[in-house]
Amino acid sequence: MRVTVFGTGYVGLVTGTCLAEVGNHVVCVDIDQAKVEGLNRGVIPIYEPGLEPMVRANHGAGRLEFTTDAAAAIAHGDTIFIAVGTPPDEDGSADLQYVLAVARSIGEHLSRPAVVVNKSTVPVGTADKVRATISAALAARGADVAFEVASNPEFLKEGAAVNDCMRPDRIIIGSRSARAVEQLRRLYAPFNRSHDRVVVMDERSAELTKYAANAMLATKISFMNEMANIAERVGADIEMVRHGIGSDPRIGYHFIYPGPGYGGSCFPKDVQALERIARQHDYPARILAAVEAVNDAQKGKLFELISRHFGGDVSGKTFAVWGLAFKPNTDDMREAPSRTLLAQLWAAGARVRAHDPEAMDEAARIFGERGDLVFCDSPDAAVEGADALVLVTEWKAFNSPDFQAMARRLAGRVVFDGRNLFSPDAVEEAGLAYYGIGRGRTL
Ligand code: NAD
Repeated sequence: MRVTVFGTGYVGLVTGTCLAEVGNHVVCVDIDQAKVEGLNRGVIPIYEPGLEPMVRANHGAGRLEFTTDAAAAIAHGDTIFIAVGTPPDEDGSADLQYVLAVARSIGEHLSRPAVVVNKSTVPVGTADKVRATISAALAARGADVAFEVASNPEFLKEGAAVNDCMRPDRIIIGSRSARAVEQLRRLYAPFNRSHDRVVVMDERSAELTKYAANAMLATKISFMNEMANIAERVGADIEMVRHGIGSDPRIGYHFIYPGPGYGGSCFPKDVQALERIARQHDYPARILAAVEAVNDAQKGKLFELISRHFGGDVSGKTFAVWGLAFKPNTDDMREAPSRTLLAQLWAAGARVRAHDPEAMDEAARIFGERGDLVFCDSPDAAVEGADALVLVTEWKAFNSPDFQAMARRLAGRVVFDGRNLFSPDAVEEAGLAYYGIGRGRTL
């Protein structure tokens, strides 16, 4: 099938590549010329496991093209995906300018019937706005071309995006058009072979499903962080509590890990956007507001522990920071808890020696050159001479360090474990003090 994808970010590039992988002819279009030129030379702008060889193979086979030419891309696809960003507006609601710019462009260039599919995470009612924008642009040039609009929210997880795209848990299709649903069913058939994962619904329900899913996941995290903060105060260990509650199948073990707060490009902005949507409809979303407030506070948790340990004064101290990305297996640092921690450490006059397996280039881009930040090529190099280790992102490579060797490298005697990754006993046996999140040893 002939597919066009607007946006070559995490969602657009992965979606386009996976659709090409199963034999479709895909044209990806982006306004970022440098990105498109890079992709045409085989330079993948993001780190995502398994993506690079797949892009190269499909590009080489001629099934996956990259362009900045929106008109040519629109002429190509029977199915046109919109997968551009929907960042937060000043008031936290989703900024639709990129989505609607694509819709306008589709209306300006469409010359034969197509199904326009919105994959970006958008407020309820956006499908109507996309439809109206395309219609207006068609009318402005006196064109009469049949098109359908469908909502097809994306659920891939950064760090596992290719796998999620090839083996989705569900494929939500929101559309009132039987033709659009049928076309998308055919397009997704290769990813839907073992059992039917397609859930068809109306557009508005599809749009809300995406926000509800992210809000639920963010709620689980904030809930566990709240429990961790209670555990810390009452002398309980949240890790024991986690095991205890996860065994109930109604709760389950997934996604109930305490930590330094959620980050990334989705949870913070989507919880905020959903709260604004509710408010615009005269409903105060109290749970969502609390989820956000707990998370904002939690992002300061590591610094709070650090500051308390050092008697409120960390100026002149050096901190080894393991992990900068907002989660493992990605180079994405949008809203990452590490950013809050680094800002707090710097504001207090401390220095940072950081290591991340994939996100150091991104961190260098964000922070620029500064005297109080040194990037280190290995976890061991980061701890060399530091006053403390702070683990922020739970990359697999950080799981089982040699604490005895670490104790020899560190100048200070303390480990702050923002993901409860380490055994407190193992750390303490090496003569280092241990602080985790909600582990009952800190207050
Ligand atoms: P991104 O910021 O990584 O990429 C967006 C891309 O769109 C950029 O390359 C940008 O240059 C391009 N773009 C902007 N305007 C354009 C235009 N007019 N024409 C062509 N390209 C244009 O964004 P992302 O992380 O891929 O997210 C895209 C959408 O998908 C968002 O709504 C997001 O909420 C949603 N989403 C993201 C994830 C995720 O894990 N990143 C998961 C599910 C859903």
